[in-house]
Amino acid sequence: MNTLTVNLHLLMVSFYRPTPDRHKIVIEKHAFPSDQYGVASQIRFHGFDPMESLVEVENNDDVEAVLEREGDSVALVWLGGVNYYSGEAFDMEPIVALGHAKGATVGFDVAHAAGNLPLKLHDWNVDFAAWCTYKYLNAGTGAVGGAFVHERHGGRVVLPRFTGWWGHDKATRFQMGPDFVPCPGAEGWQLSNPPILSLAPVLVSLEMFDEVGIDQLRAKSERVTGYFETLVKERLPGRAEVITPSDPKRRGAQLSLRVRGGRGQAVFDDLSARGIVCDWREPDVIRAAPMPFYNGFEDVFRFVEALHEIPPDVIEDAARS
Ligand SMILES: *Cc1c(COP(=O)(O)O)cnc(C)c1O
Repeated sequence: MNTLTVNLHLLMVSFYRPTPDRHKIVIEKHAFPSDQYGVASQIRFHGFDPMESLVEVENNDDVEAVLEREGDSVALVWLGGVNYYSGEAFDMEPIVALGHAKGATVGFDVAHAAGNLPLKLHDWNVDFAAWCTYKYLNAGTGAVGGAFVHERHGGRVVLPRFTGWWGHDKATRFQMGPDFVPCPGAEGWQLSNPPILSLAPVLVSLEMFDEVGIDQLRAKSERVTGYFETLVKERLPGRAEVITPSDPKRRGAQLSLRVRGGRGQAVFDDLSARGIVCDWREPDVIRAAPMPFYNGFEDVFRFVEALHEIPPDVIEDAARS
């Protein structure tokens, strides 16, 4: 339903219920801007101050210490399944257990995890999650987003929520009665008719995921990204540093490369001119994600060779111009 940021807000209406004693939201450092703005605005909306109520964790390993320290005042833990900037994957299941043990609600933004890593949101007891379908799910920018609400909460009609006619129980939706009766589950958070044209690529993409299976895709992805990391280390020593964790369990397909010398933008432009589609983030990070559906070892080889070929002096000139 909707798009990711809209879903984030709709779900926070239900799952971020701050009190004077318990008002903090834990997010990761370098969270996607929309998540940062979204949680900050929710905090303000409830009359609290993000300076006090927003707590950042450095990375996966930092979550436990932060929850130990701040746990009693944390209302919500909201982390990326995979951080969009560093490519680090959070260990979702233990984080949910830790958060719950401290009395917090735990949600995940799985924009960079959906279609990338096998996810068991239900089994891991995640309270709620949101994602978009235009990253690893390949449905095109602006395609309809996704929302997950755990079965435990799906039938809780007492949860405050913003409602719309499309969330009304399907059996009686078209009776158009005055009183809202929610569909059970996440469907009860829908507001409007879905955008049919933009759902078509989502459907086709998900059918392909079903056909191949996420476990198979992930198996290939681990090998291709492992090869990618090895090549970067062998061919680009001193020029590019992988800032994504090395442990395959702590990452998905993406590697984030810190390009030395503040010349990254020029390198990125050169890569684009060679027909290589990756992503540039200030101040010096190139993100590249071999998507196992259509990228393989050869693409990774070409990418690293292209980086290797770009001579440092040309890079510097390009940066100056
Ligand atoms: C892409 C992305 C978004 C933006 O999603 P919209 O559909 O444009 O709202 C938000 N959060 C994360 C982590 C993302 O990767």
